[in-house]
Amino acid sequence: MSDKIRVRFAPSPTGHLHLGGARTALFNWLFARRNDGEFILRIEDTDVERSKDIFTKAIVDGLKWLGMDWNEGPEVGGNSGPYFQTERMEIYKQVILQLLESGKIYHCFCTAEELEQMRVRQAEEKAPIKYDGRCSKLPRSEVEKRLSGNEKHVLRLKIPNDENIEWNDLSKGKLSFSSDLLDDLVVVKSDGFPTYNFAVVVDDLKMRISHVIRGEDHISNTPKQILIYRALGEKIPEFAHIPMILGSDKTRMSKRHGATSVIDYKEMGYEPEALMNFLALLGWSSENGKEILTKEELVSAFELERVSTHGAVFNIEKLKWMNSEYIKNYKGEILLKKLLPWLQKVEGFPGDFSEKQLEKMVSLYRERIKTYDEIVGQIEWFFKDPDTYDSKGLEKLGNISDKKEICEALCQEIEKIGDFQDAVIEKSIRDFAVKIGKKVGEIVGLCRLALSGRTATPGLFEIISVLGKERTIKRLRSFMLRNL
Ligand code: GLU
Repeated sequence: MSDKIRVRFAPSPTGHLHLGGARTALFNWLFARRNDGEFILRIEDTDVERSKDIFTKAIVDGLKWLGMDWNEGPEVGGNSGPYFQTERMEIYKQVILQLLESGKIYHCFCTAEELEQMRVRQAEEKAPIKYDGRCSKLPRSEVEKRLSGNEKHVLRLKIPNDENIEWNDLSKGKLSFSSDLLDDLVVVKSDGFPTYNFAVVVDDLKMRISHVIRGEDHISNTPKQILIYRALGEKIPEFAHIPMILGSDKTRMSKRHGATSVIDYKEMGYEPEALMNFLALLGWSSENGKEILTKEELVSAFELERVSTHGAVFNIEKLKWMNSEYIKNYKGEILLKKLLPWLQKVEGFPGDFSEKQLEKMVSLYRERIKTYDEIVGQIEWFFKDPDTYDSKGLEKLGNISDKKEICEALCQEIEKIGDFQDAVIEKSIRDFAVKIGKKVGEIVGLCRLALSGRTATPGLFEIISVLGKERTIKRLRSFMLRNL
């Protein structure tokens, strides 16, 4: 039981779920699902000023929208909770007592001014700038006295001299640091709250986390955390630090490079599975180089060893392409469901079109949209009879003689079609063009403009069959009246 793989995503609820966080969550989730392990969601809300419930909700919603679930955490509970750090204060207190008793941590009463003086002096002496450990030498009686006088203090971990801190990072390889570079670490702040490094170690321990997978911006925290594990005499988990997401100019991804919140991608009309697929490829690649991978395929292909060591560049064009690959493959029924939130923004939707007609209608756009939101501008003419017509299209018609007569005859021809199917409609219009001695292209262009007001739509015969006989004839006649 104890060697079960357990990983966690530990966001601070100080903002929306951003792409970097979502990608970290995803690598953890994929690793857990791949190895029959457990994925835990823990909310690191000790920054009480900046932590907000709405952000916790946004993170939870964002993860769910992307298609991730968790074995323990908010909403689902579990045996190693609570899953909000602010509810874990008793747990931290017990560990603090244990460390005080073993003499691994000590009370530090130094004021900000004293620390500043220390820094100035060290700078003058060209010595390394770090806390000199003076409070660790205070006699016990003095500590007791100052504590009973309620003197403001923090708790610091004694950092051993000249100790090598090394770990075999599952993504970066062997990394090592000397303890000499570190200050005696503050583990509890003067307001009584544990610091990030301390709380994270206690939680990872108590939650029996086997692998810590997180952004490489945390590498500098890892030696400190390892020293806390050592002070507690506990086993150190495996670490994997994954590369940062970079913008197109190779600097760290930020708002300058485009939307950074997952929820923005939902609103922009991205398919969650496509975004998941895209995020998985930011810093990881499948062995056979395949890029379009379903959720199940990602789970079975994911290996931490294949996480790249250098930054992953965010390329929105690639995301759009991946999204279009997903859209292309949806059956009409599914596509209609997925597009519904956008279609509802279209004036006149759904009108008197049947479910089947709507399915066929959206299918016509399967290869014409890259994101769901693009449907709105492209499909709206189906639901509203056109009252204006593309001027270039009208100009082009100028070359056709007897337009009015042709249009009227076409209406009669369409009226006669019995089985209103694409192929039958196509044959009837082609035969009609031949009969009146016109090019099919000319008739198609005229008809398209009359029915949609536009010069570009999906195939004419398909749109006629979706519009239906009555609406087609009505639109043709109305076009004649207004323009010919
Ligand atoms: N709350 C930390 C963050 O959001 C978690 C870091 C960690 O995974 O240890 O960056």
